Amino acid sequence: MGRKASRFAILLAILVVGGCTWFPAASDNSDAAAIIESQINAFLAADALKNPSLYLTTLAPEISIHGQVSGIASSGLITRDDFIDEVEKTVWSSAEVIAQFIDDYTITVDGEKAFVAGKFYREVELLPGETVTIQGTILFELQKRQDTWVITGITLDTGSSGGNPPGHSDPDPIPEPEPEPDLVIEVGWIRPDSSNFRTPYYVLTSSKPGPTLMVVGGVHGNEIAGYQAAERLVNEFAPDRGRLVVIPRANAHAIALNKRGAPDIPDLNRRFPVGSSPIGKTANEIWNVVLEYKPDWFLDLHEGYDFHIVNKNSVGQSVIVYPTGNSTSVARALVNYLNSMPAITRNGSKRFSYLQYPVSGSLARKVGADLGIPSAIIETAWPDPLARRVGFHIYAVRFVAERMGMNLISQEGLVIERRAI
Ligand SMILES: [Zn+2]
Repeated sequence: MGRKASRFAILLAILVVGGCTWFPAASDNSDAAAIIESQINAFLAADALKNPSLYLTTLAPEISIHGQVSGIASSGLITRDDFIDEVEKTVWSSAEVIAQFIDDYTITVDGEKAFVAGKFYREVELLPGETVTIQGTILFELQKRQDTWVITGITLDTGSSGGNPPGHSDPDPIPEPEPEPDLVIEVGWIRPDSSNFRTPYYVLTSSKPGPTLMVVGGVHGNEIAGYQAAERLVNEFAPDRGRLVVIPRANAHAIALNKRGAPDIPDLNRRFPVGSSPIGKTANEIWNVVLEYKPDWFLDLHEGYDFHIVNKNSVGQSVIVYPTGNSTSVARALVNYLNSMPAITRNGSKRFSYLQYPVSGSLARKVGADLGIPSAIIETAWPDPLARRVGFHIYAVRFVAERMGMNLISQEGLVIERRAI
C-alpha cells in the first residue's frame, strides 16, 4: 500500500487549500460538516487546481478500490493491478477529476470521524483502443486529530458486477437444452510420464472455422512474462474463429526452479535442430503437438535481461523472425505497433527491435525452416514491470492473430465445453 498511498497523497494535497491546515475540528457534528463544506468550497473557489505548489503534503491515506470496472473484464487485456497503477498515474493526479467529484458530495460526521462521499465517473484510455470506464462512489474517510481533520482513507466503489447478495439465491432455474458451445477447450499433456516435466497443452477451438495460431511459453523457466501471458491466453481469451494452440509451460521443471533450464534440460531452446529429430522426450513431444495442429503462425514467448536497442548483448524487447511466408511483414508491423504504445513512446530506449533469425536449435527456427510456417520469438525485457511485459506479450499475440483474420476475444459470456485430449 505504501507506494499507492504516496501517489494518493497528491490527491489529498489537492484538498489542502489556503495554507498548511485544513478541516479544523469542530465542537459538534453540524459545525464540523459546515467547516468541511466551507473548506471544500474554498478549495473550489481557489486556484488550487492550477497551482501545483498547493499539492505538497506528507499525509498518506489508505486507499482501496472495490467492485468491477467495466472495460477490464470485457477486454481481458488489462489486469486489475495494471488498472490501479494506471488510475494512479493518469486519473488520480488530475485535479480536474477531484473537482468533478466535489461537484456532487455529501458530508456525514460521526463523532471524531467524518465521511465525504461523492459520485465518480471517468473514461480512461489506457492503451490505444483500450478505453475503460470507472464510475461509482468515492468515499473519503476523515478523522479528527487534535485540531485538524485529516483524510485517513479513500475508497472507490465501482459497484458490483451483478449477482445476488450473500445469503440469497435464485429459485431453481428451469432446465434449458444445452446450447452449442462457442468454444471447445481441450487439454492434453506433454511428458505425462514425468513428475518434473509433465505439462499441459491447450487447444481452444472456435465454433467458426478459421486459421490456427500456436503459442508457446516457458521454454526458459526464468522468463516469467512469457508463461504468464500464455496462461492468460488460455484462461481468458478465445479465438472468434479457428484455433489457438498453447503450451504455456514448455519446460515445467525449469519454471518450478525459476531457472533458464533444469538439470536434465539445461536449455530446451537448443534441442530443435533444423532437418533432424528434436533431442529428448520433452522436445519430441512438443514437436509432435506442432505437427499435429500444423499452425498457420507460430509464436514463442521469451524474455531478455536488457533492452536490445541499448544493449546488443541482450535480445530483450525484440521480435526475432524466421523469414518465411508473410512473417517478415507481419513482424515489422508488430514492432511498429508495439512501439506506438505509450509505455514505449514515453521512453525511446525501450523500443522493440526487429531481428532475424531465431538462434540455431530453437523451436521457432525449426518451425520456420522445417515446416515453412511463419514463426517468431517475442522477447520482452526484465527491467520493465512484470505486468507490462505480460501485456506486451498478449498484445503481440493478439496482433498476429488479427493479421491472420482471427480475433482473440474474452471468454466471458461464451458457452465453453471442456474436454481432455
Ligand atoms: Zn528465452
